[in-house]
Amino acid sequence: MTRTISGLPPAPDPPHDLLSRIDRRTPALFLDYDGTLTPIVARPELAVMSPDMRAIVRDLATLVPLAVVSGRDRADVESLVGLSTLYYAGSHGFDIAGPGGETIALDHGTDFDPLLDHVKSVLADRVGPVTGAQIEPKKASVAVHYRNTDAQGAAHVQRVVDDLLARHADLKVTPGKMVFELQPNIDWDKGKAVLHLLDVLGLGDEAFLPIYFGDDITDEHAFAALDERPNGGLGVFVGTPEGEGGDRPTAAHFRVPDPAACGVLLARLAERLRESRR
Ligand SMILES: [Mg+2]
Repeated sequence: MTRTISGLPPAPDPPHDLLSRIDRRTPALFLDYDGTLTPIVARPELAVMSPDMRAIVRDLATLVPLAVVSGRDRADVESLVGLSTLYYAGSHGFDIAGPGGETIALDHGTDFDPLLDHVKSVLADRVGPVTGAQIEPKKASVAVHYRNTDAQGAAHVQRVVDDLLARHADLKVTPGKMVFELQPNIDWDKGKAVLHLLDVLGLGDEAFLPIYFGDDITDEHAFAALDERPNGGLGVFVGTPEGEGGDRPTAAHFRVPDPAACGVLLARLAERLRESRR
């Protein structure tokens, strides 16, 4: 991968813009939630979508297939978005459901609940007392947030996570923005979730152009999956090279600076889809 965030073209600027890349294909949209549809906030429960953004997403979902793909629990992100007409992939895609609430099965086979229960209880014991740390138990993973800890607290959280990983080969960690996400060590991520959804929803052929919007390291799996896909796909990075992750290699194709700009782009996309159907 030779691109970096600073080298990505801004998505809305013609002539090399995202909208002109769509051509006659039907976009299939995959949207991360935190940092993409909402600004990053100090506590995850405060990440609320604006009414404008909700209206844009609701509108787009009437025009094209649309899924929200989040690290959050599916029920959690579903209630934050508050729209029943979308697909939701929670826990980085471990848990997928459609508009009617029908679940879309993954086939990874093993029951990881006992492992996750153990991890949740170790974290409650050892990280629970750290001031500012926040444990977020989820259905298919556990997140430990350390945004509000001091340096000593953050180092302690890191040690506890390292200990858990050393003891459990079937556990892996995905680092995010001031958060460790501990999950079963199976070969599944947002990229696999997006490819799986394209497949089960019948969106795999060339008539559809999948476009993924995301702001974080975990979204790179989805950017890469689309970048390498024979029938193509585009990634839009939401953020700037000056942001929390700094400038780094990326498999995205375009960028927008923040969630507000992402909303403007999505609204333009809806407008353009309407025009093309007139
Ligand atoms: Mg995000």
